[in-house]
Amino acid sequence: MTQVTESTIRFPYKRSLGPVIGAFLTGLAEQRILGIRSGERVLCPPLEWDPGTGAELVHDDLVEVGPAGTVTSWSWVGTPTEQHPLDHPFGFALIRLDGADTTLVHVVDAGSIDAMATGMRVAPRWSETRTGHITDIAAFVPGEQPVAAAGAGPEEPVTMMDYNASITYRTPITQNVVRAEQATAEGRFLGLRCPTCGRTYTGGKGYCPIDTIELTVADEVDLPQSGVVTNYTIITPIQYPGQTETEPFARVHILLDGSDVVLGYQNLIEVPNDQVRIGLHVAAVWASAGEKGSGSGWTDSNLVGWIPTGEPDADDPTLVNRIN
Ligand SMILES: [Zn+2]
Repeated sequence: MTQVTESTIRFPYKRSLGPVIGAFLTGLAEQRILGIRSGERVLCPPLEWDPGTGAELVHDDLVEVGPAGTVTSWSWVGTPTEQHPLDHPFGFALIRLDGADTTLVHVVDAGSIDAMATGMRVAPRWSETRTGHITDIAAFVPGEQPVAAAGAGPEEPVTMMDYNASITYRTPITQNVVRAEQATAEGRFLGLRCPTCGRTYTGGKGYCPIDTIELTVADEVDLPQSGVVTNYTIITPIQYPGQTETEPFARVHILLDGSDVVLGYQNLIEVPNDQVRIGLHVAAVWASAGEKGSGSGWTDSNLVGWIPTGEPDADDPTLVNRIN
């Protein structure tokens, strides 16, 4: 069975809402749905400009619509992901609220696909926790009657919104990668040496990109545990959400002794930033047995970093060009 690794990239940010969307979301927190007049029409969700004419719309023209409305189109989500607003099957629908001329995208908690129909009547089920967000409407439900919530919304008008964009993806892990990770768990670096060109690759690459041939268990070699710094970067951390580093730190490229293999972006330990230099001889430091298993899976978590051996620096001007 193929193993997979799951990764999530998060991109949280805040956005300002402006007078129209801010009023719309403030209304949702108060369990009211607002549209905006544009000529003879009422747009819901409200917009700052008429999409047909480009005319600026004035926020004084906000009007309450709904709360019930009519489904004009829908699709069924049979297997929700964690990104979806409901954890059980539901419909995404375009809903024209009573009094509005445009449609709002929201979810319909209908129970089953058989309960969904174009033309069906729906009303909002309000969320107990309302912050001025489209999910202040937990879902629309079949029928004419909204389901009110007891909880109070924010006391101040909503002017900003937290936006937590994220994507979760899964990557298959080949047997070569599994074996390379097992090796690092045992305090070894596994290499794969191409039988045709003799190049050695790390990290369970599984193929030689030069000769386009598969590399297998038969091509495995243990790599040296010492090397020389060929290049480095001093990184000054920016305090974005999730950043755990607070002080500038070094990442170094290391050419392993007696080999062609360069390990990139390695952690150098016990060397002040102003003493990091090309030519420094270093050796791998692994976590002790008691610390093993505390890592987070498919990482080099058992490799603590690299420490100077104390040998005189290598004097080779071509080292600086070796970053891979
Ligand atoms: Zn090759």
